[in-house]
Amino acid sequence: MLRVAVVGSGPSGVYTAQALLNQSLVPDVRVHVLDRLPTPYGLVRYGVAPDHEKIKSLQNSLRAVLEDERVTFVGHVQIGGTGGVSPARLAELYHAVVYCVGAAADRPLAVPGEDLPGSYSATRFVSWYSAHPDIAPDGFALQARSAVVIGVGNVAVDVARILARGADELRATDVPRAALGALAGSRVREVHIAGRRGPSQARFTTKELRELGALPGARIVVDPAELAMDPAYAAQEGLPLPAVVRRNLEVLRGWSAEGEPAVPVHGHPAVSDAVRRIRLRFFLRPVELLERGGRVAGVRFARTAPDGAGGVQDTGGYEDVEAQLVLRAVGYRGVELPGLPFDPVRGTVPHAAGRVLRDGVPSPGEYVAGWIKRGPTGVIGSNRSCAKETVASLIEDAPLLARRPAADDPLAVLRAWGLRPVEWDGWLSIERAEAALGRSLGRGPVKIPDWPGLLAAARGEEG
Ligand code: NAP
Repeated sequence: MLRVAVVGSGPSGVYTAQALLNQSLVPDVRVHVLDRLPTPYGLVRYGVAPDHEKIKSLQNSLRAVLEDERVTFVGHVQIGGTGGVSPARLAELYHAVVYCVGAAADRPLAVPGEDLPGSYSATRFVSWYSAHPDIAPDGFALQARSAVVIGVGNVAVDVARILARGADELRATDVPRAALGALAGSRVREVHIAGRRGPSQARFTTKELRELGALPGARIVVDPAELAMDPAYAAQEGLPLPAVVRRNLEVLRGWSAEGEPAVPVHGHPAVSDAVRRIRLRFFLRPVELLERGGRVAGVRFARTAPDGAGGVQDTGGYEDVEAQLVLRAVGYRGVELPGLPFDPVRGTVPHAAGRVLRDGVPSPGEYVAGWIKRGPTGVIGSNRSCAKETVASLIEDAPLLARRPAADDPLAVLRAWGLRPVEWDGWLSIERAEAALGRSLGRGPVKIPDWPGLLAAARGEEG
């Protein structure tokens, strides 16, 4: 029997487990899927926006893998870090370990004022409305009237959409109580999304972009002059643009033709307060976060223009945009797991076809898959082929791996080391508690947002 540990129960971890089950060269495989959290599914639970029900429903196919009799979910077990099990000790328990730990940090913006109160990484905001237990449930008060989202990727679009959506529309989702209350009391009326390059270089996908235009309580404002600065936009008809770029530009063109909405922002509060504006801005490179009274008060942007080679150059002009809330959505970054090699420039673990490299040489029994292997790019499905490549390497190595020592009962050893794993039954108990919490609030399942609540629910205790 080949015993494999997969560290991380997000899409890359579960697809790795699935690829191990689906291969036929080594029929007798047992997979333990470990997670620091007592809950499975990683970013599908704590990253996919609550109003993206279709993507969330991916949990059903991930669940089928975790419920396979050859797979054991082992939650609430941290690998690496203070109090965690080191990779070296974990390697004693399994023939092979596949690290699928994702990219847990946000990329820094590296401009003055980045850490002012009121400025947050978008990942923190996402974690908050997704009820991640590491973020205080009352972490955001949303007293700002104007918010700036920096970056034009899908995360930027997600956080802008949640800021612009009415809380009533989120009541049917599993958004935690405190976040729903804060969103209901939100004073945010203007959401600026700013890209440092042009619309043809934006990273968002068309479906996500279009969704912004479908929000009942929001209007999109796009400046035609900014679009026209982009050579690809200007020459759209004649250029062989990638389909996603062409479609994005079509959507933006439609919005720019609509002009400013007639409703005044200032003036009749009863009317203007009902409408939120999403301003999609381009060719603005953030250079400083402005401060007033010890808090963020705005963002200073350098105006940019195309440099003719896909990049931009500063024009020498600046623009200050007022904002009491700034969300930096400039990408994720992998975090070093002590005891594993790490490339700090790429934010990934060095590997060859998924085999972890130590000093350039494959390290027996150590593998990576997902964002920690290839960086934080691609859609959820990209993790499937990534996991398959890693599993193909692992299975090729299986004759050697099977000769390594492994524990007969790794869970018993983890318990003997003082850990308190939450197994699948514990997770099912959390699910029941979230359903009961939702019922008591007249809603569908509502997420439990804190560690004590999750662990009590896992033990079957009343919340
Ligand atoms: P992303 O797609 O890499 O976008 C990052 C954005 O930040 C880009 O617009 C980038 O501009 C900008 N940026 C980077 N450094 C900057 C700086 N110093 N100053 C100003 N702007 C800067 O990252 P993401 O939005 O975090 O998404 C990560 C991955 O998750 C993507 O693959 C995404 O598609 C996926 N995702 C998908 C969904 C969905 O399907 N609904 C939802 C969320 C996330 P440049 O291009 O100029 O570098």
